[in-house]
Formats: sequence, structure tokens, C-alpha cells
Amino acid sequence: MLKKIRILGHDFTIKMVDDSLDALRYSGQVRCHQQYIWISGAVARTQQRSILIHEIIEALDFKLELKLEHHVIMSLEAGLSQVFEDNPKFLELWSE
Ligand SMILES: [Zn+2]
Repeated sequence: MLKKIRILGHDFTIKMVDDSLDALRYSGQVRCHQQYIWISGAVARTQQRSILIHEIIEALDFKLELKLEHHVIMSLEAGLSQVFEDNPKFLELWSE
């Protein structure tokens, strides 16, 4: 898993955490002010990737004040995750 991801010019640290951590009430969490993304280490790898996409969308929602409803964030997570999972070469376009 990636250690850092830059979102709108800010470097967020990605931390894999144990589910038993009280701070992690869900499988993932983003703290925009602290620039942390926490992801549960107890879920499958494909699920972790999906959670990362979810938390990135959450960060964009917060920073850009999009005020997206959570079901929209969930839908974007599901749709984008599926596209990325089905087209692994898609992301390579940025390293050509
Ligand atoms: Zn969420």
C-alpha cells in the first residue's frame, strides 16, 4: 500500500491500522487538518483500495466544500473502484 498521497497539493500520510483502534469506527477515515488517511488492515486488499478512493473523495468533498451527500460519495467510490479494478492499465497513463 502507498505510504503517502498528494491531494490538492497536500501530502496525506496513509496509515494501515488495526480494527481495534477506537479512533477507527469505520474501515477508513480521513483527517483533513492532520492530513492522515487511516485504512483498516483487517479487510481485503481490494477493499483497502476502495476505502482509499472513498477517503480521497471525502478529502476532496471537504477541501472543495462540495457538500456531497454520503450516498453520493459511496456511489463514486463504488463506480471508480470498479473502473480501476477492471482497467489496471488506466493508472499507468500517468507514468508514461
Ligand atoms: Zn465516508
